[in-house]
Amino acid sequence: MANLRDTILFLGTGGARFTVAKQLLATGGAWMNLGGTQILIDPGPGSLVYAIKYGCEPPTLDAIILSHKHLDHSVDINVMIEAMTDGGWKKRGSLYAPADAFKNGAVILPYVRAYPDKVEVLEAGKVQTEGDVVFNTPVKHIHQVDTYGFVFETPRHRFSWITDTRFFDSLASYYMTELVIINVLSFERRLPVDHLSLPEAETIIKEIKPKTAVLTHFGLTMWREKPWDIEQRVSDSTGVRVIAARDGMILDLDQV
Ligand SMILES: [Zn+2]
Repeated sequence: MANLRDTILFLGTGGARFTVAKQLLATGGAWMNLGGTQILIDPGPGSLVYAIKYGCEPPTLDAIILSHKHLDHSVDINVMIEAMTDGGWKKRGSLYAPADAFKNGAVILPYVRAYPDKVEVLEAGKVQTEGDVVFNTPVKHIHQVDTYGFVFETPRHRFSWITDTRFFDSLASYYMTELVIINVLSFERRLPVDHLSLPEAETIIKEIKPKTAVLTHFGLTMWREKPWDIEQRVSDSTGVRVIAARDGMILDLDQV
């Protein structure tokens, strides 16, 4: 059991329509290697291309998790399911997605649903097990479609990922972990938008008080402000180490 590591490779750090359309930042989601359990989360446009580019091997994936069906999170989900299952020939791997990803404008095509070994529908409070990784989706987010964030637990680390949502008062209380990853779309608070802004992310960080907070999923206004320039400012304002994710960055959870 020695030398097992938990790492998160950011296949993309962009989000929302303009960032996607112009590919100002890549939008492929993240590839997590949690002690050998390989999990792809939110395979947006370019996920397959960047996964291959960074040396990941889709046929070794153990699971694909979708937080919600918006295109910047889901465009590559079908091709990644095929890649995980050797084109559908090898029934293997797991797929986790909210109920509406399978119906009412489904993004997961009916014919690929038979390919994974396990297909699970995400629900608030439901605990899922993938190898020795346990994760739960503690609360349904406020977003236009069924959306969940995650609390992951490996034998070594516990961390959370607050995906797309409108801010709400109890949000932080569901994600009290030492490492928190937050999707921060906009630089300023713009109501009514069902996304987190930087000031709201700062509020969440102050409440959770993690050891490290990682910001990602940047929209146009965050990109213009250069997230890597503002991470120090947010660290100063929150008293927490803040990292703005970069495309291709590998986060080693032993180092955060
Ligand atoms: Zn969304």
